Amino acid sequence: MPQVGWLDNNGKPVAFADALAVSETEGSWNGVPHEVLSLMAQQVTKERPDGISVTQLLGCPRKVFLEKTTEFYEAPLSNWPAMRGTLVHAILEGQSGDGATVEERYEKQHRGVTISGQPDSVRAVGKGKKRLLRDWKSTNKLPQYDSAYSSHKLQVNIYRWLLDLDPRLTEIEVVYISMDGVKAIALKRGGTTKYGRVIADEVMTDEQVEDYLDKRLFVLDAQNKQGKPVAYHNVDEEDLWNCNFCPIKNLCYNLAADEARSAFLADEPVKRVPPRKRKEK
Ligand code: SF4
Repeated sequence: MPQVGWLDNNGKPVAFADALAVSETEGSWNGVPHEVLSLMAQQVTKERPDGISVTQLLGCPRKVFLEKTTEFYEAPLSNWPAMRGTLVHAILEGQSGDGATVEERYEKQHRGVTISGQPDSVRAVGKGKKRLLRDWKSTNKLPQYDSAYSSHKLQVNIYRWLLDLDPRLTEIEVVYISMDGVKAIALKRGGTTKYGRVIADEVMTDEQVEDYLDKRLFVLDAQNKQGKPVAYHNVDEEDLWNCNFCPIKNLCYNLAADEARSAFLADEPVKRVPPRKRKEK
């Protein structure tokens, strides 16, 4: 069960249908115009593909599982960044011309598990076999440096692998779009500059992508097969930055207490417990 409604200004959960019924007659609900609410509800409740997607590989696996299996509510404007991304994609989708494949979903197996993903566009460039793979990202602020964010680099590298494109013949770009402008950042090729500075190759080989998948994929797959999320104390440290933006944090932390108790009784190590809430002054 994913998100099923919004929290009102007092933190009370309200089903999508109830909030929309009010906004339709009043023009808005909790200060958000009906048109915006309606679009956000459509975006949040649209069908998602079964199985494991490239985006799921990049986030906290426990969040992926709990979001899929639990009913939860969020403040309406928490849905806005995803909505903004959808709007940008919808506007650009029709502009790629005939030479590009746009928003097509691809699937590939890795060690018996199916992974699916939907790069924003792929087009042939030049006269040979070269391809340009591009992903659009809507953002508040354009990146300051000429380097894409690391999770975005991983995402586009996995897309390249998913499409079986030759890494030597594929240009990969992450294009950031904000209200201030557009910044296209190509993944760098490794080498040495004329001043002797060594530049790491940002385009991953198939082996590098598969090593990454080996680390991430099986946790997601095991959760699906066992019908329960990876325990909080076993979530990778590198995934915990997601907690600051996690809509099911309360549920996660409540479950974590039971998980820690069970692990303790089974004599298993528990290296982490949820942070305590700071007292309000
Ligand atoms: S609170 Fe953190 S660890 Fe728990 S599900 Fe959310 S992101 Fe994952």
